[in-house]
Amino acid sequence: MKAMLLQAQGQPLRQAELPRPKPGAGEILLKVHACGVCRTDLHVMDGDLRQPKLPLVLGHEIVGVVAEQGAQAQRFALGERVGVPWLGRTCGQCGYCASGRENLCNDALFTGYTLDGGYAEYALADERYCLALPDAYGDAEAAPLLCAGLIGYRALVAAGAAKRIGIYGFGAAAHIIAQVAVWQGREVFAFTRPGDADGQSFARELGAAWAGDSTAAPPQEIDAAILFAPVGALVPQALRHTARGGTVVCAGIHMSNIPEFPYSILWGERSVRSIANLTRRDGEAFFEIATKAGIRAEVETFPLAAANEALHRLSSGRVRGAAVLIMDEPGGAEK
Ligand SMILES: [Zn+2]
Ligand SMILES: [Zn+2]
Repeated sequence: MKAMLLQAQGQPLRQAELPRPKPGAGEILLKVHACGVCRTDLHVMDGDLRQPKLPLVLGHEIVGVVAEQGAQAQRFALGERVGVPWLGRTCGQCGYCASGRENLCNDALFTGYTLDGGYAEYALADERYCLALPDAYGDAEAAPLLCAGLIGYRALVAAGAAKRIGIYGFGAAAHIIAQVAVWQGREVFAFTRPGDADGQSFARELGAAWAGDSTAAPPQEIDAAILFAPVGALVPQALRHTARGGTVVCAGIHMSNIPEFPYSILWGERSVRSIANLTRRDGEAFFEIATKAGIRAEVETFPLAAANEALHRLSSGRVRGAAVLIMDEPGGAEK
């Protein structure tokens, strides 16, 4: 099978021909139709995230159909379409797993990081961690929902009942989660890279009440903030605009250092917290709400062989919505 392979961190991916993997017990082999390109993939490539499996097939927003079932794999039928998210497998027994917090399991394995992912024609997955996908979404459109959507949703839940919500970094996750927040009747304040007029008008099109530079002050105090941009300096900035009792949620897996800030901007029972990974329950909850709220994902598609270009565009902030790799017939994977 064709795959885009990470041989060592700090290097671009290279095209490779790999043997098609065989599903083990409880695993399914998927013929990949689409795979989203996520900022986390950049962190794995760059070395911000340590000790990946190497060589590695990146990609943890996989949409594919079941091509082969391993022994005891019977949850999905042959030919059925399923999604594979970042959380690839957990131990199932530790205190975290036993208390509904499998996202924190110390022995978790992650798709496209410690397990091979979906930048390939075929991918393996443990069927227990796969997600059923609503028919309302085509393959390319469903892909970014599998990480940007559902980890974004976990971050939104962590923001609590905030009525006015600030979103820093208006990329794949923000454009999906802003729609959920607006549907829930919240007001969204979108903060982009300074001067990103396109990003700001995109946010307004999706219902943001206000959009401006990340360095700017919103027109009103916000009740909570979600940071999708991996920029630590935004934490004190967001805190300064957040009302008492509000939470600043850091949604990314990696962030540059957070600069020192005065206690006074945290005082007033504000909190700063992070979001780590996802649970299967998050996935189910998110797809239920996405369908109800009629969330649409805006995607820019690239052929598998153009994975490096897609990653480069993402890192320079030039993707509107989400970048998605399409396998299969040229232009033919969208339903
Ligand atoms: Zn565990
Ligand atoms: Zn991701």
